[in-house]
Amino acid sequence: MELETDLNWLKEMALDRQEENLLFREFLLVMDSDALDARVHALNGKVSAAIDCTTCGNCCRSFIVSLDDADKKRLQGHLEISAETMDRKYLERSQMGQWVFSHIPCSFLKDNRCTVYAGRPGDCRDYPHLHQDRINAHLQAILASYGICPIVYNVIELLKEETGFPNHNPDRDPEI
Ligand code: SF4
Ligand code: SF4
Repeated sequence: MELETDLNWLKEMALDRQEENLLFREFLLVMDSDALDARVHALNGKVSAAIDCTTCGNCCRSFIVSLDDADKKRLQGHLEISAETMDRKYLERSQMGQWVFSHIPCSFLKDNRCTVYAGRPGDCRDYPHLHQDRINAHLQAILASYGICPIVYNVIELLKEETGFPNHNPDRDPEI
């Protein structure tokens, strides 16, 4: 399987195909939800198996991660530090009042690996959302990662091909 993993290329294509991807979202929204889930889950399985996240780490360098109470408790237990120390060193309140990591790239990313993997927040566990049910409810978040995550980029391009999306140019696709 030959997949696109060049992060600069993804960034460029996200700008170039902004309108196309909006049209693709509308195209997917009228598809049967279960059929869409099945296609995306199958593609995600193949693409995820072929991409090594430890050579990337781009999500951990790009996104604001939010934490709920359970996330905070789990991470604090993993770090074995007090809640006060954790809040001071790693967290801040967003404008919406949520707890978020205060550093981008994430403070826990070292050599493209998560150093708190077992204690990482739910946001990190769920990313990039391609394994979830009711994919059509997550399309906006998924497409927001088209220019950031090689797994998302390749799944979306392969999905355009599989579904016969009319605005799609097959000459530029990765092979699977
Ligand atoms: S906690 Fe781990 S998985 Fe989450 S952003 Fe930080 S390094 Fe990445
Ligand atoms: S989930 Fe996507 S962006 Fe994050 S490390 Fe893996 S391939 Fe890179």
